Amino acid sequence: MQVGIIGGGIGGVALASVLRQKQIACRVFERAPAFGEIGAGVQMTPNAVKIIRALGLMAQMEAISFTPHAVLGRNWKSGRVMWRTPLMETCQKLYGAPFLHVHRADLHDIFVRQLSPDDVVFGARCTGIRHEGDKAVALFEDGSTFKADVIVGADGIHSAVRTALFGQEAARFTGHMCWRAVVPCNGVVDYVSPDSSFWLGPAAHVVTYYIRRGNAINIVAVSEAPHWVDESWTLPSSREELMATFAGWHPNLQRLFSQVGDVFKWGLFDRDPLSAWSKGRVTLLGDAAHPMLPFLSQGAAMAIEDAYVLGNALAAAGAEKALAFYEAERRPRTARVQLEARKRGETYHLSSRFDVWKRDLSYLVRGLINPQKTGLKADWVYDYDATAVHMPITA
Ligand SMILES: Cc1cc2nc3c(=O)[nH]c(=O)nc-3n(C[C@H](O)[C@H](O)[C@H](O)COP(=O)(O)OP(=O)(O)OC[C@H]3O[C@@H](n4cnc5c(N)ncnc54)[C@H](O)[C@@H]3O)c2cc1C
Repeated sequence: MQVGIIGGGIGGVALASVLRQKQIACRVFERAPAFGEIGAGVQMTPNAVKIIRALGLMAQMEAISFTPHAVLGRNWKSGRVMWRTPLMETCQKLYGAPFLHVHRADLHDIFVRQLSPDDVVFGARCTGIRHEGDKAVALFEDGSTFKADVIVGADGIHSAVRTALFGQEAARFTGHMCWRAVVPCNGVVDYVSPDSSFWLGPAAHVVTYYIRRGNAINIVAVSEAPHWVDESWTLPSSREELMATFAGWHPNLQRLFSQVGDVFKWGLFDRDPLSAWSKGRVTLLGDAAHPMLPFLSQGAAMAIEDAYVLGNALAAAGAEKALAFYEAERRPRTARVQLEARKRGETYHLSSRFDVWKRDLSYLVRGLINPQKTGLKADWVYDYDATAVHMPITA
């Protein structure tokens, strides 16, 4: 079997790593001229770490990651802890793998190191797809083509493959703007706790956590905005704009923000869950299939789960059966995560005093009953084990 993968983001290179381990020939087509240090921190929750371990990449993962003590919900102004979900001492026991924080580029590199240079073609922008008998053909901007038994669109939220399969449909601006920055440090500092801290404020929230074995702090700062005015979805911003947007927030955050160098702002877009991902020998994976708000920290994790399930299915069965199984297994879960991530945005950003009081009381009560079921309420996400998903053997 030969598989063509359009897009060499986390999802594309994760799928290529799985296929290589299964000795299935594949080639990744990436529009960029090279892989670079793109992105910022990513929280790798236990459901994703189970896959990294199954691929034999745990030693590399430990070398680049930071293990947070807990997920904390904090008041934006006072810093009061509203919930504490322990991670370090519980995740392995409860979900079968730890919770780790990494830089996206470091994680991406772990997968890329599993590939040979010939597995990736750079400067290849896919513009369309067609079928020729029982083969799928990817078409590229320079007029070249690639014929394979299966083509996978792992080309992100603006997916050309998705458009080729299901037509053009604009992604939805979710009303959120997001600043991302990474601040280098020499180990844990006294004004940023070694946790995944969710600072919740009116119409905004900030997430801080360590990456790179505690040698950098990742900042994600989200604020509601009625319009995204620029055509570009990512724009350079400034420390001043970040500090002005979050003026009045807790002094520890002000201190952290004052050290920010490069900072980018993004419009956050998503889509409704699709009712189908595949046509013939072509399917979608990662953000191309299910772009989501980052509020459950699951975009990259879902792409890695997709990659593992699809890779295993292709190793177990012919293309059509494998794609049908992959879609049936993955669509319900990713749709639920997409929709739940949207809901989290609403609860994080409450403004009225009464709503905030009710929410915080519910965090408190739920936390007293079971700290894994308060705050993010993501225990069902972490519990899933893609490595235990097997395609039934059919004649
Ligand atoms: C603020 C923020 C915080 C986040 N935090 C987390 C987190 O903590 N945990 C987590 O799991 N996820 C997180 N995510 C989500 C995560 O970054 C994405 O969901 C994930 O990177 C998607 O991977 P992907 O491979 O599907 O797509 P992408 O990473 O977008 O990769 C797509 C690739 O395809 C290439 N491409 C695009 N079009 C073409 C074309 N026509 N031809 C060829 N190549 C093409 C692109 O250049 C790119 O390399 C966050 C996202 C944001 C915005």
